[in-house]
Amino acid sequence: MTSKRIYLDYNASAPILPEAKGAMLAALEASANASSVHANGRNARAIVETARGKVAALVGADPNQVIFTSGATEAAQLVLSPMLNRKNRAIELDKIYMSTIEHPCIQNGGRFEAENIARFPVDRHGVVDLAELERLLASLVGKNPFLLALMLANNETGIIQPVKKVSQMVKSAGGYLLVDAVQAAGRVPIDLRQLGADFLVFTSHKLGGPQGAGALILGDAELKPEPLIRGGGQESRLRGGTENIAAIAGFGEAVRIALESLEYIQRLIYIRDRFEGQLVDLCKGKDNRLGPLTVFGRESERLANTTCFAINGLNAETALISLDLDGISVSSGSACSSGKVEPSHVLKAMGVDDQQAKAAIRVSTGWDTRPEDITKFLEAFASCLKRLT
Ligand code: PLP
Repeated sequence: MTSKRIYLDYNASAPILPEAKGAMLAALEASANASSVHANGRNARAIVETARGKVAALVGADPNQVIFTSGATEAAQLVLSPMLNRKNRAIELDKIYMSTIEHPCIQNGGRFEAENIARFPVDRHGVVDLAELERLLASLVGKNPFLLALMLANNETGIIQPVKKVSQMVKSAGGYLLVDAVQAAGRVPIDLRQLGADFLVFTSHKLGGPQGAGALILGDAELKPEPLIRGGGQESRLRGGTENIAAIAGFGEAVRIALESLEYIQRLIYIRDRFEGQLVDLCKGKDNRLGPLTVFGRESERLANTTCFAINGLNAETALISLDLDGISVSSGSACSSGKVEPSHVLKAMGVDDQQAKAAIRVSTGWDTRPEDITKFLEAFASCLKRLT
């Protein structure tokens, strides 16, 4: 009998929720174009609009502020352009400023020319350096408008950024704010108005929805990005192409469940903290030839589901293979960059040296994780350490 694998890589992609799968199967039956005027089309449209309402509710937005895309990467690319429109009047942006820990889908700067992409740092705790940012923003007051991107929670470390504070600073300096809320969604409360973001990006598959669906949420339905995909005028003329009804339905349902479970998920911080204490203790054994264990961002506000740690002298890739053979799935650094053996840009931005960054392992939990899974991970990791040292 094969025992069930233990999946602890939710920040890469969460297993699909049964409710999301059910909504997708029901939507597949609709098999009509949501733009068709006949009854089948109207049924498909109703599925899309129901999901739009659920996604809007996640952040307290109006449904007309939600633009469905194929995921967060596309939602980010839609905004990453030096042109915005307010009530059909063009707003030209000079530059994009972004933190050094942004996901690659923001890092590439989209339609901004390379010379118009600038970065601002985080401190050694992985949090944006507000004094440094204040200086930068002071130098932009009175100049042309700009875009600034800051993620709400980091995919590798789970560290949460002071976005509310930054949005006030950006507004005072005459800029617009793009927030990647992919990892924060369903893990911490998000109130669009309080956050003050002009654009929020989300993806379905981190929440237990299907891959291939996501959304851009407009902070103000009158302030729009320049379309990336033009076509049949779908999604308020911001994203052409026939809607992927089944994926959108699954996304909406996953968001609904995530919102319902939010309070419970936040309470899991005590499990994370106990787990991290146990990890640190594992490396204290007197016959352990490896260095001490560091949990990145341990002093910072972090998601309850993410632990990123490293042990000096341990090769993360080797540990990952060993854990995989034991039936446990975790990741090293960012899953989006797996295959690359370069040290994580996020840890490097926090001042972690290359050797330690290459030893980083990320454990991320979610809706189907049980306390026994953490116990089994600790047991497997302890024997992996014995094997490798
Ligand atoms: N932003 C963050 C923080 C992510 O973790 C990811 C996925 O790993 C993305 C954006 C991109 O999402 P997608 O691949 O669904 O477009």
